[in-house]
Amino acid sequence: MAHKTVILYPSLGVGHLNPMVELAKVFLRRGMAVVMAIVDSPDKDSVSAEALARLAAANPDIAFRHLPVPSRGTERCSTNPVMRAIDVLRAANPALLGFLRALPAVDALVLDMFCTDALDVAAELGVPAYIFFSSALGDLAVMLHLPYYYPTAPSSFKDTPETVLHFPGVPPIRALDMGATMQDRDSDVAKARLSQCARMLEARGILVNSFDWLEARALEALSRGLCTPGRSAPPVHCIGPLVLAGNKGGASERHACLEWLDAQPDRSVVFLSFGSLGRFSMPQLREIARGLENSGQRFLWVVRSPPEHRSNSVEPDLDLEPLLPEGFLERTRERGFAVKNWAPQSEVLRHLSIGAFVTHCGWNSALEGIASGVPMICWPLYAEQKMNKVHMVEELKVGVVMEGYEEELVKAEEVEAKVRLVMAPGSGDGEELRQRLVTAKDMAVEVLKEGGSSHVAFDAFLTDLLKNTRTEKSGFL
Ligand code: UDP
Repeated sequence: MAHKTVILYPSLGVGHLNPMVELAKVFLRRGMAVVMAIVDSPDKDSVSAEALARLAAANPDIAFRHLPVPSRGTERCSTNPVMRAIDVLRAANPALLGFLRALPAVDALVLDMFCTDALDVAAELGVPAYIFFSSALGDLAVMLHLPYYYPTAPSSFKDTPETVLHFPGVPPIRALDMGATMQDRDSDVAKARLSQCARMLEARGILVNSFDWLEARALEALSRGLCTPGRSAPPVHCIGPLVLAGNKGGASERHACLEWLDAQPDRSVVFLSFGSLGRFSMPQLREIARGLENSGQRFLWVVRSPPEHRSNSVEPDLDLEPLLPEGFLERTRERGFAVKNWAPQSEVLRHLSIGAFVTHCGWNSALEGIASGVPMICWPLYAEQKMNKVHMVEELKVGVVMEGYEEELVKAEEVEAKVRLVMAPGSGDGEELRQRLVTAKDMAVEVLKEGGSSHVAFDAFLTDLLKNTRTEKSGFL
């Protein structure tokens, strides 16, 4: 099996890069060489740039290679961020093709779920291609079904927000909780995403960052072909949870917030973090602050400036004082820690002092919470997070909802109530949630061990990959 080379092709953004790097580590452990082909965002995205630098430094065995994507071809890209990413990735196809042709060996391509246009590159080269789906298996069940459902549905989701939709393998979902890109059926981005969903069926297999115990119902629906009626879908391999564990994610020194956590009692701190892009208006930041203060609980809160201040960049000089209620930081100094911009989330979650996680429901965050056994308070913000919230609360039962997330403002009283519910020792619902997370954490470890379901699923995928590389290997070179 040695000396096979797999090309990993992530989409733009930290939420896609992090799990791809974890996937790369699995390939390395199985004796394969990994090249990570990176398309740089044409926008100034210092969050991703910093994350990439950290990851590259922490993982010298992975060859990170930047594709020379010409600005011509991307300059007319959409202003919708998802459409823009799809356009940029599509425009990168010739660069990807040229790059791969120049490599001494390419045995398989593993494409992020947003990179389905690169299936054309794989076909051109005669190399087997697999999709890496870095969101919930439940999302995959929905996304594979949407091309069947949406084009002939009575209306766009945005027009009937309270309509309850029924898809195979997942709990009922209100239209307003469907992915943001899918809300308007006639939008370019919804059409592009539908086409990407349909194209996933062209891959030889779909790797999913989840595990079968966690999402058994979705797995069954997918295995029985219920999501893609009348068409054979490629095999789905649940190989997760792939989350950062063990090292410091490339940071050279221990973050101050971890030192602070060391001094807190076990399971006493609420952690609030909202993904790589989450930002709140100033009124919302103040409601959160009031809720935390009134809850009386210890907290660790990753705070960013409101969206109107700046977008998608790290602000080392961020001044928290004017953003938060007057005197808040001083009054909560003994029991609260506000981190500017970015915390080592996965390490924070694994710290014994963390008792609850207020999350935006990005799938990496959800998995990191599960792998750490931390109950979650679900506050979805963007992308497919509202759908994840449905899975997490209704199906996986690893969190409760922060009510009001779909309105303009979540009130301080709600923040306080949910924090109290999840943190209070021995409270009925909170206790049930904690027990569920203890089990989920154990399962997250078990499935990755030899003989565990995710280990076995990876073996099955690898057998398929190696079978294919033997017959089609490097025919283009
Ligand atoms: N993350 C982090 N520190 C932060 C915010 C986010 O390390 O302050 C990491 C988090 O651990 C996760 C990723 O960034 O691995 C975010 O991915 P997710 O899918 O949760 O959300 P997205 O950013 O894609 O919305």
